[in-house]
Amino acid sequence: MLCKEQQKIVSHFKSALASDTLRHAYIISASSGMGKKRAADELQLLFACNKGVGCGVCEGCNSAKLGAHTDIIRLSLGDKKVYEIGRIRELIKKVYQKPTLAHKLIIIEDAHCLGAICQNALLKVIEEPPPYAVFVLLCDNLSAILPTVLSRVMTITMQPWKRSELEEICPLDSSKRYLYDLAEGNPALLLSMANDGEFSKIRDTAINSFVGLFASSAYGVYDAVDAWLERKESVKDMLNVLALFLSDVLLVSLDCNDHVRCADKLKECRTVAAHLSPKAALEITQLVLSCSQRMARNENLSMALFDMFMKIKEIIT
Ligand SMILES: [Zn+2]
Repeated sequence: MLCKEQQKIVSHFKSALASDTLRHAYIISASSGMGKKRAADELQLLFACNKGVGCGVCEGCNSAKLGAHTDIIRLSLGDKKVYEIGRIRELIKKVYQKPTLAHKLIIIEDAHCLGAICQNALLKVIEEPPPYAVFVLLCDNLSAILPTVLSRVMTITMQPWKRSELEEICPLDSSKRYLYDLAEGNPALLLSMANDGEFSKIRDTAINSFVGLFASSAYGVYDAVDAWLERKESVKDMLNVLALFLSDVLLVSLDCNDHVRCADKLKECRTVAAHLSPKAALEITQLVLSCSQRMARNENLSMALFDMFMKIKEIIT
């Protein structure tokens, strides 16, 4: 299944091909797991198809699927962390070999892993490309792309998947539907949480350590920080869990129980709502978000968690 955003990308290229208005270079930007590579698979078919529609069954489409089409070059990172300049030089040589079709499609996966040297090497061919070349760079993080490259490519940003699309690829029973909210429109994130047997334990740790603060002494802050640090790899998920839980607490405070997403945690929501004003719940949500931001800036994790829990404890006592 292609989501609406993937379909939009394919349609864009279809109409650009039909009207001969293709640009020479594009970046498809979205966070990891949103389906950029899947969209690129469809683009390959579109360019290789003998019928020009990406039928998926003709000789051209089949050779693209096998990675054997000479007019389609696709660079993958594989198990490397960054691209080596040798691979980019090799790629550029291939770009200058005339295609058999009207276009040569060059797809570079994980373009955020092209360092400055690779990007500068590519820049020359993107600036003055052979007339048939079409570059499509797939990128998780636009801040890793040089401004000189960005200014010469058309950026297509994929929006999050719709809830109904997530429900279609990963149906969940009512006790797990909160995962749709935590996934934030990212299908890979949703599937990984849904299939991770540990995730419900991670979630319990996040919620219980917070709820535990209400009954604990001041030392409860240390217990909470320790519990989170034991699951260091999952702190980002735990912060998201806590933010969602707090928004449910607000719903309970406002008597909107039917809209609570963490339905299995209604009892905990009620306990917290009984002790916390809506204003205080919002303040704590703000602390959770600022802890996420500190994590994104690679600040010291223990310090960020300790700060967050200390301030939470001050608010609730
Ligand atoms: Zn075809």
